Amino acid sequence: MIDRIVDTTEDPEIDKELEQTLRPHNFDNYIGQEKLKENLKLAIAAAKKREDTLDHVLLYGPPGLGKTTMATVIANEMGSQLRITSGPAIERAGDLASLITNLQDGDILFIDEIHRLHRVVEEVLYSAMEDFKLDIMLGKGPSARSIRLDLPKFTIIGATTKTGSLAAPLRDRFGMIHRLEFYSPKEIEDILQRASSILGVKLKPEAAEVLAERSRLTPRIANRLLKRVRDYADVNGDGIIDTKITTETLKLLDIDSRGLDSADRLLLDAIIEHYDGGPVGVETISALISEERGTIEDFIEPYLMQIGFLQRTPRGRQVTNKAYTHLGKEKNLEG
Ligand code: ADP
Repeated sequence: MIDRIVDTTEDPEIDKELEQTLRPHNFDNYIGQEKLKENLKLAIAAAKKREDTLDHVLLYGPPGLGKTTMATVIANEMGSQLRITSGPAIERAGDLASLITNLQDGDILFIDEIHRLHRVVEEVLYSAMEDFKLDIMLGKGPSARSIRLDLPKFTIIGATTKTGSLAAPLRDRFGMIHRLEFYSPKEIEDILQRASSILGVKLKPEAAEVLAERSRLTPRIANRLLKRVRDYADVNGDGIIDTKITTETLKLLDIDSRGLDSADRLLLDAIIEHYDGGPVGVETISALISEERGTIEDFIEPYLMQIGFLQRTPRGRQVTNKAYTHLGKEKNLEG
């Protein structure tokens, strides 16, 4: 995978600590996603009133938009204990069984990348989610027998980048399914100001505006860019982040005025040069730019589509006129 500063995956080394420090803990400091917050507030108030657990929640949307953060907020607002795991980390049904049997009534289990759960694990999860029972097989061969365990009443919060790849029976077991939207530039500015005050950096409002425009409308990227700009300001300036420092850092990082980096440009250029702007299938694009299909679909395309540079048509991906203008390219009208 291409090494990108605008990469929305978590970098275990550098980012874990930063993400922990900057992560909002309640609805009040979780900026944006107003509709989602409204729905969740209602569901939480109702669950509390009934002294019941919260329904299972599925959050979907591109990486870095705040799914894990929202799980933390929900747990805090419910006063519940949160356990965090991910689909690929639960390898066998037994792993899931030990995870769930260790939960207590009211606990919340966050499963990131829930679309990557192994099929056998997924099947065990169905009855656990539905009637808080766990069916497990003991032994092998003719002496094998199945036992049914009662489980504590817990809540699963699942996160996925795409609901489409989630098996229907699993999807149906979530009482609430919500999509996280890209943030508005103004919301990203607020997130940047909040982060800079936590980090103790002075970020000028004009600089926050420039940074927000180039953060792909994604909090994780905004925070990451802020950190890079802060480093640059410390070394090349007086530590105050102004527009000049910001544009110089972004130039150094090869990020343009709309937040596109070399990977985005590579993809758009490939479609333009080889297929006159498309439509072209994602598999072909994947081969053209030597990038995995999953990476293209999860990390590159959502933002390009959000800003209207790329369209998904039944015949494949199509580069829009807006993207041609931005890239300063002429459309070949002959073909
Ligand atoms: P996801 O789970 O969707 O990949 P995360 O929840 O890990 O994304 O969010 C990435 C980072 O972005 C968090 O550490 C947090 O600092 C920041 N963040 C996400 N959403 C918000 C928000 N609504 N307000 C403020 N910061 C946010």
